[in-house]
Amino acid sequence: MPLYEFYCPKCAKEVSLTLTFGERERGEYKCPACGEKALQPLMGTFFSKTSRKS
Ligand SMILES: [Zn+2]
Repeated sequence: MPLYEFYCPKCAKEVSLTLTFGERERGEYKCPACGEKALQPLMGTFFSKTSRKS
């Protein structure tokens, strides 16, 4: 699963979340520290370890 980075306005820091594509599409994510759901996606920063297991 890809790792997405968000900015949490409550914690005032960046958080990294591992989400499925569907979870991200539906906005089913929250800050692991404070539970804030209004996370701001950091543009262009997602890492997937090019795991090509087919
Ligand atoms: Zn937070």
